[in-house]
Amino acid sequence: EMQAAKQYVDHVFEIVKKRNPGENEFHQAVQEIFESLTPVFAKYPKYIQHNILERMVEPERVISFRVPWTDDNGNVQVNRGFRVQFSSAIGPYKGGLRFHPSVNASIIKFLGFEQIFKNSLTGQPIGGGKGGSDFDPKGKSDNEVMRFTQSFMTELYRHIGPDVDVPAGDIGVGAREIGYMFGQYKRLRGSYEAGVLTGKGIAYGGSLARTEATGFGTVYFVDEMLRDKGKTFNGRTVVVSGSGNVSIYAIQKATELGATVVACSDSGGYIYDENGIDIATVKQLKEVERKRISEYVNFHPTATYTEGCAGIWSIPCKIALPCATQNEIDAESAQLLVNNGVKAVGEGANMPSTLEAIDIFLKNGVLFAPAKAANAGGVAVSALEMAQNSARVPWTFEEVDAKLHGIMKNIYKQSKEAAAEFGYEDNLVVGANIAGFVKVADAMISQGV
Ligand code: GLU
Repeated sequence: EMQAAKQYVDHVFEIVKKRNPGENEFHQAVQEIFESLTPVFAKYPKYIQHNILERMVEPERVISFRVPWTDDNGNVQVNRGFRVQFSSAIGPYKGGLRFHPSVNASIIKFLGFEQIFKNSLTGQPIGGGKGGSDFDPKGKSDNEVMRFTQSFMTELYRHIGPDVDVPAGDIGVGAREIGYMFGQYKRLRGSYEAGVLTGKGIAYGGSLARTEATGFGTVYFVDEMLRDKGKTFNGRTVVVSGSGNVSIYAIQKATELGATVVACSDSGGYIYDENGIDIATVKQLKEVERKRISEYVNFHPTATYTEGCAGIWSIPCKIALPCATQNEIDAESAQLLVNNGVKAVGEGANMPSTLEAIDIFLKNGVLFAPAKAANAGGVAVSALEMAQNSARVPWTFEEVDAKLHGIMKNIYKQSKEAAAEFGYEDNLVVGANIAGFVKVADAMISQGV
């Protein structure tokens, strides 16, 4: 059976490479899932019989569109917009929008593919999707951001809806962008459909604790993983990369649990302070003033700033939380972390570790919390936001936070149990992939070809 399963998986991987030439990030995400699933196909040949894999790797729909807008100098600019509606097997497409110059079809497909399994793991009724644009919000005026996002939604609105596809934020898309997009959607539709986007402002249908959810969720997940081994965050040195929405709330929660977070970063470089990072300053600089993290040292003279963001992984720590972007930890950085005594790694960003880096962590006995499990808290609370919108009843911060905590604990349990079922004790990469996959695959079989 193992032989047949391996043959099937290899065969579909060849198809993926042939149909998506040069899309390295997408190939990487597919490869990780495929390696994990081989034992599942060996045990349950029904998935091969229904050719589930080839169906799953082909998005249900890919939308690519022109986004024209006028900059403050009156020049017409053009960006490319995407929405990949990957899987609606267990719910409407759900996933964020990323605005970053690196965005292309490969990046959106890798993110959309990961989203299918992540969303399934949350236990919420949400399918997988992702979108975005190569628009760079950095250095743009508020009015430029507004005109761009309105133009983006002028095309996107016809493809989405509360029961169809529900976008949210990701890198470069926060409360401001969601607000402008919601306004434009409402204008074009002529109806108030609160559940069409998540991550909305609290005043117009957003959920309390959505902003905190991804970062808090990552720490809740890692905490669960540590406790399982009789350890906690308390008294540990932690490094968190990034300084965006995920990082900020990961730093806050880890600090609340007694850890000392000694470093964080942005695309320019990283700051270090052995006494701990002051989260209020990071919030003010990044969320309010939209400035560079290098400015942090002006407010905290004991902190140092070093240019280049990969250097952050040379700082000795017990727990590393990569919360910046894909492939930020390569083999070299992983080895450095291991040599410096890292005990646990929790992925707050999407696919922040390369396949080689993950290998190094697992081989060295580092507790490893993979992204699709560890960062599922954001989209989980997005699903809770949809529930509140449908019921037209808002929940308190405490209610949402408690539900989030329960969801993260449950994702840990599911991932651990799935790994154990297939003989991969403590390998949460395999466990999360299998647990996420099975539910989606069974739904696809039930719903026919
Ligand atoms: N962009 C986040 C993620 O990667 C959140 C998506 C959402 O809330 O829909 O999961």
